[in-house]
Amino acid sequence: MAAARPGKLPDVGTTIFSVMSRRARELGALNLGQGYPDYDIDPRLTELVTAAMAAGHNQYAPMEGLGSLRERVAAKLLAVYRLSIDPESGITVTLGATEAIFSAIQAVVGAGDEVIAFDPAYDSYEPAVRLAGGRCLRLPLTQPGFRYDWDRVRAAVNARTRLVLFNSPHNPACSVATRADLDALAAVTRDRDVLVLADEVYEHVVFDGAAHHSVLTHPELAARSFAVFSFGKTLHATGLRIGYCVAPPRLTAELRKVHQFNTFSIAHPLQHAVAAYLAQRPDCGRELAGFFQAKRDRLRSALEGSGFALPKAEGTYFQLLDFSEFSHDGDLEFAEELLMQAGVATIPLSPFYAAPQRLPFVRLCVAKRDSTLDEGAARLNAFAARLSRS
Ligand code: GLN
Repeated sequence: MAAARPGKLPDVGTTIFSVMSRRARELGALNLGQGYPDYDIDPRLTELVTAAMAAGHNQYAPMEGLGSLRERVAAKLLAVYRLSIDPESGITVTLGATEAIFSAIQAVVGAGDEVIAFDPAYDSYEPAVRLAGGRCLRLPLTQPGFRYDWDRVRAAVNARTRLVLFNSPHNPACSVATRADLDALAAVTRDRDVLVLADEVYEHVVFDGAAHHSVLTHPELAARSFAVFSFGKTLHATGLRIGYCVAPPRLTAELRKVHQFNTFSIAHPLQHAVAAYLAQRPDCGRELAGFFQAKRDRLRSALEGSGFALPKAEGTYFQLLDFSEFSHDGDLEFAEELLMQAGVATIPLSPFYAAPQRLPFVRLCVAKRDSTLDEGAARLNAFAARLSRS
C-alpha cells in the first residue's frame, strides 16, 4: 500500500476556540474563551425563524443571498455609513464572516501570491491563504496598544503582494484602527495590484464614543476592498452563521464565483427571519457599543486591584488580561493554569502569531450575562490572591 499522503495543512491543529470550549465543557469551567453570548437572543428573532419555516421558505435561497435581506443591508449601509451600495452587484450573503473571508481569498489569491496579515491574526486567515496557494507574510502589531507599523508594511509590499488582510475592531487585540491607519493602508496599496480584505465583524462594538472607520467609507480603499460583516455578532446569535461581504461589482462577481461552489447559498428561513427582524429593528446595531461597553466596564472594575493589568479595550466584545504581575510563563501555560486552577477558560494569544511567542496576555469574552462576568471575576480574583500569597 502506498504511504498515506498528508493533507494540505499538516501543521494545522484544531482551532484554539474549539479546543478551549471543549476543555471548558469537560472540566465544567466557566467559559470566557470562545466569543459568543451566553444570554438569550431576542425572542422576536426566534419567532421570526419559526414563522419563516411555517411560511414555507425551506428550499434553496438565491445563491447571492435573499434579495430582501440584501436590501436591508443596503439600507443599513446608507443609514450608518451614508453609502449607497447596489445590493444586486455589491452585497453577497455568506455562511458567517468566515466563509466570506475564505471565499474572497480563494477568489483572488493564487500560487506565488503574497498576502500581508498582522499578528495577532485571526486564525482562519492564513490557512485560507495557503489553501489558495498563496503565502502569508505576518507582520506584528506593535506595543503598546497593538498598533500598525506602516513603515514596516511599506517595506514588505512587493510585486508579489496581492492582498492585505485588515481587521478592525481587532480580534483578539481589541484595538481599533484610526482614519490615519486607513489613509496609510491606502497609500501603501496605491498604484499596485493589491486588494484589501477588511474583517469588520465588530463594526458596532467601538467604545468610549470613538467611531468605527470602515474601509467602505474611504473611497480609495472601497474601490479595492472586500469588507466582511456578521449578523451573528450584531444579533447576539453566533449560531445563525450568516454574514455578508460588501465589495465593488467586479470583486463581488469574483467572490460569487467561489461562493456558489463553496456553500452555494445560505439557510433560507434564517435569511428571511433576519430580513424581517431588520425591518422591525433597523437600528439594532446602534445599541451594541453601549451594551458591551457596560459589560467591559463591569468586568474591568470587578478585576480592579486583582493584580492583573487590563490593557485598553477600544472595541470588540473582548478584554485582554495581562498576567505579567503573576507569572513569566507563556500564555499557553497560563491559560492552562487558569483553566485548571481558577476554573476559567480563556483564549491565549500566541496561537494568533506565526512565530512562537512569550506573551503575557489571555483574552476574555465580555459578551456574557452579568452573573457570568461576576462569577468569572470572582474566580480570577481568588486565583490572583492565591498567587500573591504563594
Ligand atoms: N470569532 C470567535 C472568537 O473570536 C470564534 C469563532 C470560532 O470559534 N470559529 O472567539
